[in-house]
Amino acid sequence: MEEIRCAKCKKKIGEGELKKFEFYCPRCSAFNSLVRAIEPQPSAPREPRKESECGSTSPKF
Ligand SMILES: [Zn+2]
Repeated sequence: MEEIRCAKCKKKIGEGELKKFEFYCPRCSAFNSLVRAIEPQPSAPREPRKESECGSTSPKF
């Protein structure tokens, strides 16, 4: 859970996991437009299949 606060007066608007939210602050009426780019880390771009890795070699054990 992450707190969502007004960028101007820091008033707590709510909590949750949002990628994009826009709102007018009820206290200072400042328009808040926040877009968060939550992307998966490119540390593991491996494909789930392993059959093509050693297709030419046949295990004999
Ligand atoms: Zn505010």
